[in-house]
Amino acid sequence: MYYTKKRRIKKGPIIVLAVIILVIILIVVGINLYNHYTSNEYRLSEAGYNEDEIKEILKFDEKYITYAIEHKYEDDFIPLLKEKYFLWKNYDKYIAYIDEEYGNKQVDYSKVVSLVNVGADSDPYTNTKKADMDKGYAILVNKYTSLPEKYAPDDIVEMSNWYAYPDNSIRQEVYDAFKEMSEAAKETGYTLIVNSSYRSYDEQKAIYDDYEDNRGKEYADTYAARPDFSEHQTGLSLDVFSPGANMSNFADTETFKWLSENCYKYGFILRYPEGKEEITGYNYEAWHYRYLGKELAKKVYESGLTYDEYYAYYLDK
Ligand SMILES: [Zn+2]
Repeated sequence: MYYTKKRRIKKGPIIVLAVIILVIILIVVGINLYNHYTSNEYRLSEAGYNEDEIKEILKFDEKYITYAIEHKYEDDFIPLLKEKYFLWKNYDKYIAYIDEEYGNKQVDYSKVVSLVNVGADSDPYTNTKKADMDKGYAILVNKYTSLPEKYAPDDIVEMSNWYAYPDNSIRQEVYDAFKEMSEAAKETGYTLIVNSSYRSYDEQKAIYDDYEDNRGKEYADTYAARPDFSEHQTGLSLDVFSPGANMSNFADTETFKWLSENCYKYGFILRYPEGKEEITGYNYEAWHYRYLGKELAKKVYESGLTYDEYYAYYLDK
């Protein structure tokens, strides 16, 4: 009979090892829990967004994600941010406009963004501001943005009867550009003739007052701009027709077709397009062209935006 000494397993190191493993597990679980509860996904779900919405929000810039986390759920948040011309500085105005105009109706987010960007969530001639004259030929003048009081450009020149009906004048650079465009039109077989151009403060005031006296303020505001709010006072706008055409038929002419498609090459844009009346604040005017310079006119033309929208998104910094 022999005797083997029973090997005694030492328990000390095993306990130590078990404790270490347990601590590691706790740390890993703890980190995971911490990561989970501090993750954007978790915090967005706490704010009220569902899984699909969270995926959308996580594609946005950090500041928008933070906003969504810090605010309660807003069903307009994602569709607004996905709009091409969304401006963060206007976010609260978009929401206010939607609440006021749509209620429970289907929201047209593109329209909301356009209208708010140009200030048309206010009535015309309310919440007005002064035009930024440092923008030069790119200045914006509309029913929310006025020229400095009684503004008059200092380089106004008479237009020859070759290009305009009598008593028309315009800023020198605009005249040069119009002459170039007029010659190009002629070579293609079209004749352009200007019937309205620079209007001084006093002239614009006389037109507006006349409408107001005879037909009331609402009528006057529909058919004329108030003085200091008219693009004609900038000396950068021309009303262009073909000989014999008038306001009711110019849009149907071949001359108009050529002009509207080619004017940007000479620095002009069609300022009050069809279908954009709510944005520009003006009825469709096939004859009203605004000078911006060739480079900018091309960009605006290619954007397909009204100048009000283009300015609000790209230039109003
Ligand atoms: Zn005009």
